[in-house]
Amino acid sequence: MASALVLLSGGLDSTVTAAMARADGYDIDALTIRYGQRHERELRAAREVAQALDVDEHVELDVDLSAWGGSALTDEAEDVPVDREEDEMSEEIPVTYVPARNLVFLSLATSFAETREAETIYIGANAVDFSGYPDCRPAFLDAFETAAREGTKRGVEGQPVSIQAPLVDLTKAEIVELGNELQAPLELTWTCYQGGQQACGRCDACKLRLQGFAEAGVEDPVAYAE
Ligand SMILES: [Zn+2]
Repeated sequence: MASALVLLSGGLDSTVTAAMARADGYDIDALTIRYGQRHERELRAAREVAQALDVDEHVELDVDLSAWGGSALTDEAEDVPVDREEDEMSEEIPVTYVPARNLVFLSLATSFAETREAETIYIGANAVDFSGYPDCRPAFLDAFETAAREGTKRGVEGQPVSIQAPLVDLTKAEIVELGNELQAPLELTWTCYQGGQQACGRCDACKLRLQGFAEAGVEDPVAYAE
């Protein structure tokens, strides 16, 4: 069976994306990056999701972007914004943007994928609800696919890896519906920007997730602090 590599953070989007790769008929390997995020809760989620989806090989890689910080997700001194309305979230690129994160992650995934002769890399990038993140947009993903073709042995030999971002144009509600349809293990996912035993329900990520479930008419199986 052909294989695919999934970038798996343990969040809702990457989990639905991994379930999609399965549904597309691939054997899947998964890559999770421990990038110096402020909490380890989502790494646990990634492990549990990988297990639930019967991933062949799940690699957790340390690439500590907190060495230079520059994001509320990698720098303890920066506060994660809470209680913002959606128009406020989309006003400008938020402080939770991690500089060039998907460029770094896709580069690492391309290297891993080449060793496993994976046909495709799946990434849960989404440009609709969070259009503030430039490295989630189709223009970036297309350009990266070209770079990966030109910059790898398999690429120049005529077997380039493709980049699939099946959620890129979906709303959060559509992502929830798709996950539900694919029976993705949504109960294992962790979306909140903050750590802790329960999701905060107040950060941008929690609010968009909650709104997505509400619009989809699906009950969010994850517990919230408030
Ligand atoms: Zn939260």
